[in-house]
Amino acid sequence: MSEKKERTELYELGEFRLIDRLTQDVKTHNKSTVVGVGDDAAVISPKKKRSLVTTDLLLEGIHFDLTYFPLKHLGYKAVVVNISDIIAMNATPTQVLVSIGISKRFSVEDLEELYSGIKLACERYKVDLVGGDTSSSYTGLTISVTAIGEANPDDLVYRNGAKVNDLICVTGNLGAAYMGLQLLEREKQVFIANPNAQPQFTGYDYLLERILKPEAHLNVIEQLRDKAVKPTSMIDISDGLSSELLHICKNSEVGCRIYYEKIPIDEQTQELAKELGIEPHIAALNGGEDYELLFTVALADFEKVAAMESVTVIGHITEAAQGAYLIPPQGEEIKITAQGWNEIKFED
Ligand code: ADP
Ligand code: MG
Repeated sequence: MSEKKERTELYELGEFRLIDRLTQDVKTHNKSTVVGVGDDAAVISPKKKRSLVTTDLLLEGIHFDLTYFPLKHLGYKAVVVNISDIIAMNATPTQVLVSIGISKRFSVEDLEELYSGIKLACERYKVDLVGGDTSSSYTGLTISVTAIGEANPDDLVYRNGAKVNDLICVTGNLGAAYMGLQLLEREKQVFIANPNAQPQFTGYDYLLERILKPEAHLNVIEQLRDKAVKPTSMIDISDGLSSELLHICKNSEVGCRIYYEKIPIDEQTQELAKELGIEPHIAALNGGEDYELLFTVALADFEKVAAMESVTVIGHITEAAQGAYLIPPQGEEIKITAQGWNEIKFED
């Protein structure tokens, strides 16, 4: 079919009808949501629980590139990365607010695409879209998501609770999102040089999924709760394993040893890394946006976490004086340094 895609300009609707259109079929799932979209403020009632709040700002050209990032995926990811921060506190995400700044480059249909991803993530994680703000902007797209969550006070897990001899655990595998981004960037350059070239993504679908459609690990914190394992510290891996480990070490005033061979790396990550001449462990340690959970548990919980399919034990916590080191199969220990995935480069 060669149907021409409809394009409704933003001015044709105006702000209020746009908000109505984007939020018309929003359903709520949580008891704590008393009033959602439509009044001056949402009303939330977490009963005797603690409320958690986190926010992220995403700017076009800094945090995402629309030449290869579909709007629906962007909406999905914007919600998931915020939910991931709530989960990393061992809490349940319950509400989100989404604010957007939009230039006239975008049509109503574009924003509906963005919101279809936002709503899909809300549906998938049973989180309620309860509000936001909408403004025009001169250039590009800005998305700000605020996530709210709840937890019993005793369940909260911070970055500062790791103790000597605790085990260091990660979920899933690392470096895949970074390799997915390398792939997209490579194909973008090929496309710029030759707009008729077909992108070469064959065999790397998993890597694309990891960068374009990351998931948060609500199931992992639920499984840990079922097994009566409370992590001593936890953080989500948004900036690479190295920098997140150093956050836990600094906040908990401890050191660590992690083992090179234990770091979980997917086959596709290894393959593309080889093709591009990148050391896969560098991608795992310093690449960002994996959104896996990094947590520590007491040694006594070893068997319980070892039995969890999506969890790998990669090392242990030491005294602070022993520093933070990676142990390779042979040769000397390597000092772990933070090379955060820092999108913001301040230039003079
Ligand atoms: P106000 O002028 O008080 O800021 P708005 O007209 O901006 O009110 O918003 C009206 C309602 O729509 C509020 O409940 C607000 O939270 C919600 N809302 C506005 N923009 C968005 C958006 N982009 N996504 C979701 N909800 C929105
Ligand atoms: Mg407003």
